[in-house]
Amino acid sequence: MRVPALGMVLVPKAVRDYAAELPHPTGLVGCRATGEMSHTCCEYDIAVFGQGENRLEKVDGHVVELVHISRPRDHLVALKGMSIIRDSKEFYVSSALNGITEEKFKRALFASGRKALVSSLFCQQRFKLSREKQQPATGAMWLKMASYHLVAGTLAVFGARPMPLHELAQARQADLPADAADGVQVALECIGIERATRPAIARSTEAMLELKSKDYDRELVRAKIEHLLEKSMLADCYYYAGRVAAENLASRNDAFFRRYSKLVQLAMDLSGDEQQLEKLQKSLSLAAKRGLKTDATTTATFF
Ligand SMILES: [Zn+2]
Repeated sequence: MRVPALGMVLVPKAVRDYAAELPHPTGLVGCRATGEMSHTCCEYDIAVFGQGENRLEKVDGHVVELVHISRPRDHLVALKGMSIIRDSKEFYVSSALNGITEEKFKRALFASGRKALVSSLFCQQRFKLSREKQQPATGAMWLKMASYHLVAGTLAVFGARPMPLHELAQARQADLPADAADGVQVALECIGIERATRPAIARSTEAMLELKSKDYDRELVRAKIEHLLEKSMLADCYYYAGRVAAENLASRNDAFFRRYSKLVQLAMDLSGDEQQLEKLQKSLSLAAKRGLKTDATTTATFF
């Protein structure tokens, strides 16, 4: 199969032809556009500049995700480094992309990191509230959510664009200052990476896929988990399954957590050591506050 290059990025011809024939300007974004960390299970993320429903398509055996974008300036972080597939005279994707300077991208990425750290503190507040209300399981869920926000936020504040499937690898490879690296370590302890066994992953994946029963990307998530299991990347797989569950649960309410507490507990693989969680929360809180004090001018973009 001929694999034409888009700049430095390799895209299967069928995917490129498909994206070029869509009725709007298009470009390749996501991990495939950066070209370095992708696994064979990773989809080709196509930014489509126009209205429409986001969806998955199978093109010549490749999975393509269409992500519709109507206001590119709201998506500076995702669009930086995009490889244009189809431009248009009316829209001029290329000139919009040229407008995303290194400086603007750094500022937007830094701001997104701070936002994630604030979300981490918010989830930690919910952890404390749940404990006051004698709902320790819900509390443990909030602490795990806080931990995922902390990892993503720390990466972004220090110049790396977080990519869910690759986030654990990114966190391990990132050249972080000692304080920030310690914070990430605490978050990974809260998440429970050391519990990444095949039975634990199987249990949490089944529950997580039940939570995602109405989502269009459910089968893609399942395929990614199967791929990581095949490659015996158990820690990455455990981290990813929990992260997808956390993202899904972030949009639910207390009534849902009460009604489906068992499902939540399974999906997030929650542990019950309350004293340990309390101790970890204190360290996590310090890490988030330290991250928020980071000065934008001292951080470098390394991805
Ligand atoms: Zn990927």
